[in-house]
Amino acid sequence: MNYLPPQLMKISRIVLPGDVKARMKQPHVVELSESIAKRTGKRPIHLPTVEYPSKELLAGGDRLAAQLLLGYRSVWVQPVSQLTPQERRDIRRDENLHRRVVDRDALIRERVAEYAAEIEVQRAAEQITPRKSPRGEARERVAAELETTTEAIRQAEQRDAANVDTAYAFAAPHLSDPADLSVAQSLPMPVEMYGLPLLTDVEAEEVRTVQDALDSADALLRRTQAVLRGIDRSSPFAAVAEGLGRATHQVAAEVRASRPAAVCPYCKRLPQFVASCSGCKGLGYVAADVMLGVADELKLGGDLATVATGGRLVTYAYALTAKAAVAPKAKKIRIENEAGEELVPATDDGLPF
Ligand SMILES: [Zn+2]
Repeated sequence: MNYLPPQLMKISRIVLPGDVKARMKQPHVVELSESIAKRTGKRPIHLPTVEYPSKELLAGGDRLAAQLLLGYRSVWVQPVSQLTPQERRDIRRDENLHRRVVDRDALIRERVAEYAAEIEVQRAAEQITPRKSPRGEARERVAAELETTTEAIRQAEQRDAANVDTAYAFAAPHLSDPADLSVAQSLPMPVEMYGLPLLTDVEAEEVRTVQDALDSADALLRRTQAVLRGIDRSSPFAAVAEGLGRATHQVAAEVRASRPAAVCPYCKRLPQFVASCSGCKGLGYVAADVMLGVADELKLGGDLATVATGGRLVTYAYALTAKAAVAPKAKKIRIENEAGEELVPATDDGLPF
């Protein structure tokens, strides 16, 4: 295969796939066209691939459809020549994975969430007795599409979730004794645990279920927004659609802000602290965006892990002892995570600093 220099080509000269009109109506293509117009310099990040000299479009149907939606007459393409049949197949497969110009793991996770949501809706309507969880069935479907295993799909989802949720840096956990971990290590833990055994298997599975449900809700809300954006600007309902879009955007943001990403860095789910913890409001978990505002000391792991109690920082090991329990008179724990004055370590009280 030869890569020729990218060139601007008239769309009318390109041999397009038969489904290009149908693609133009798809919500993710509408979304992609917005991204191309506003964020990626009026052309997709990856150029559509065109065979030379036949000018047949080999990959990039959605990207081309998105540019047709924008009214472009000419588009930048990547011409290639002298393809073997295997190279042709590879390009077509690649097309399926890069359709939405996003990372493959993110695409897989999103597709699973969308399918799971669809399956849930379908089951509710048809009262089907479930063979598997909606998510399990969605994974099977995506695995079949991508010719891989459900385990590979699950791992891709987890990699993507970890990428999104750990955009903040954590100190490396210092485990004094890995055998202390009473939790199974077969699956990655669904939330940050600071290298401590803070969740049982059952609790971890509960958290995964909640994360899955919120991911499905998020995918559906994104789809809702894309569909609303598809309503013509000249329509008398354009203003209504815009209002609904804004409201949906707000709910979607709240859904994402509710997704547990870490065990509460303040109380570490310690029973004597969690109920009165203002960091997590008694929940024991916080979302990724909350972690961004948390003092670094509270993110330390293993032996260095800390707990915020009564406005002081103590080590997790010390907090486990009865001595650290909140005094009967103590009011609600107040935490100043921005200003930080409430988090200054105490210098007296015989604390182990
Ligand atoms: Zn807490």
